[in-house]
Amino acid sequence: MLRRVLLAASASQRVRRLTTTAPLARDVVRRFVAGETAADALAVARRLAADGMAVTVDYLGEDTTEPDHAVAVAAEYVALIGLLAEAGLTEDGRAEVSVKPTAVGLGLPEHGEKTAAENIARICAAARAAGTTVTVDSEDHTRIEPTLRLVAQARRDYPEVGCVIQSYLRRSPGDCQALAVAGSRVRLCKGAYRAPDGVALAARSEVDRAYARCLRILMDGPGYPMLATHDPRLIAIARSLAAAAGRDPGSFEYQMLYGIRTDEQRRLTAEGARVRVYVPYGSDWYGYFMRRLAERPANLTFFLRALASGW
Ligand SMILES: Cc1cc2nc3c(=O)[nH]c(=O)nc-3n(C[C@H](O)[C@H](O)[C@H](O)COP(=O)(O)OP(=O)(O)OC[C@H]3O[C@@H](n4cnc5c(N)ncnc54)[C@H](O)[C@@H]3O)c2cc1C
Repeated sequence: MLRRVLLAASASQRVRRLTTTAPLARDVVRRFVAGETAADALAVARRLAADGMAVTVDYLGEDTTEPDHAVAVAAEYVALIGLLAEAGLTEDGRAEVSVKPTAVGLGLPEHGEKTAAENIARICAAARAAGTTVTVDSEDHTRIEPTLRLVAQARRDYPEVGCVIQSYLRRSPGDCQALAVAGSRVRLCKGAYRAPDGVALAARSEVDRAYARCLRILMDGPGYPMLATHDPRLIAIARSLAAAAGRDPGSFEYQMLYGIRTDEQRRLTAEGARVRVYVPYGSDWYGYFMRRLAERPANLTFFLRALASGW
């Protein structure tokens, strides 16, 4: 119930205004967000790289409504990739970027898909030149079809482009099957958006079981699975499926979010596993932050306390 309220709040302009103008909110947000600028993201990426971890950097923002803004988002990514490359972090894809289709134009009232495709191609070209790649995030369930089309289109020129499957969607085992092919990079997550019952599994236990099912499909296939979860049980299942499939540690990776279960990120790295941390930055943190609250209501108590002490 609380999760539903928080996910509804993530789409509310009124709650957004209230939250983002509270001065102390920013301090709490910093637990999950690297900072406001690309330089802040770079500093975090350097730190994580020094600890043996890879990163995928996300310029925060979604649901772009102006074509010019969608182009500006793509330009920000190109500049970001330049900074990461200058710092020597992009070799071997150690630092890559994650892009939300609606941030680069998918939701525009006219020519959204075409605009997003052009912007994604720009970002892919910069990533390729820097020796790294791009993962296209998955958003709300209504965007899945066009997002998969965008990924398929980008892969014609840039086969290394990654995509994301959300295990809470009923369609996902079928999508995994289709994507478990040589050369494909697939991030598997549980899914962070609101979705109706007909489209998504409602119970957490069902979502977890579906995750394990998708995991098996990806691990048994010839592609490169990227296991985005902080769930210890699923991480243990991933480890045994990888062993059963005869995969070596370099043939798949774990992914976790910046600021969440950092102890586990370090532990897996020390074990010799590949770990990539999703590092978001930018001032448009509201939607991302509210989804993190929805995942763990304990975060809400912490956040409300910080807000109350500031008013
Ligand atoms: C690298 C990465 C990329 C992602 N990309 C996408 C995407 O493109 N599209 C999409 O829909 N979703 C994405 N997600 C989010 C994902 O769908 C889940 O909402 C999120 O990861 C929480 O699910 P979980 O698998 O960690 O399991 P959960 O069962 O939610 O959590 C397991 C444990 O992890 C810890 N934990 C989890 N979330 C939090 C939190 N917010 N705060 C504190 N502790 C927490 C807790 O200890 C919890 O018990 C991504 C997640 C990761 C890690």
